[in-house]
Amino acid sequence: MNSAIRTFIGLGSNLENPKAQVQQALHELAALPLCQLVAHSSLYATPPVGPQDQPDFINAVACLETHLSPLALLDQLQALEQRHRRRRLRHWGPRTLDLDLLLYGEQTLHQPRLTIPHAHMHSRAFVLVPLDEVATALKQPITLHQQPLNHWVAALNTSDIRRLGDTGVTTTATI
Ligand code: ATP
Ligand code: CA
Ligand code: CA
Repeated sequence: MNSAIRTFIGLGSNLENPKAQVQQALHELAALPLCQLVAHSSLYATPPVGPQDQPDFINAVACLETHLSPLALLDQLQALEQRHRRRRLRHWGPRTLDLDLLLYGEQTLHQPRLTIPHAHMHSRAFVLVPLDEVATALKQPITLHQQPLNHWVAALNTSDIRRLGDTGVTTTATI
């Protein structure tokens, strides 16, 4: 089998007990075929992006090592969203679970169903703050559009991103 690729997944929820949705999704990511959960960030409470008339989000980032192709992994992530009864009602609207494929090794991809790195991640504090936490814990340097991750983090307002104190970064497969 080819060697595993290290990939980072962004998780978000703002409906139906968002904290439980994200914690459940972390367990489900750990159980995906041909994938191993390497680490996940703390959980963060973050204000919504886009429509403001919706609840705050809980966000986190997970690191997986996978033998799935990018599109096969996206299929798995979308199946998990469906298990959380995700319904697409309006653009950037409230959702029980959103799973975005942020990074897949060093690969870049521009396909109708999948852009890697995720098209908006470099400008989103709710993605980069937990990603930075995981990358730091793993001592994993991350380069995004030819710049180190901290270049992008430094450009963002992170003041309204709140780490939930009863959660923490985890770097083992047991959660
Ligand atoms: P955003 O992409 O701005 O975070 P969103 O997560 O609300 O918005 P979705 O409705 O979840 O958007 O996804 C719309 C489509 O985006 C999906 O059907 C998927 O095919 C496509 N897509 C493209 N690139 C990615 C990626 N890196 N991760 C997840 N989905 C992606
Ligand atoms: Ca998203
Ligand atoms: Ca998405």
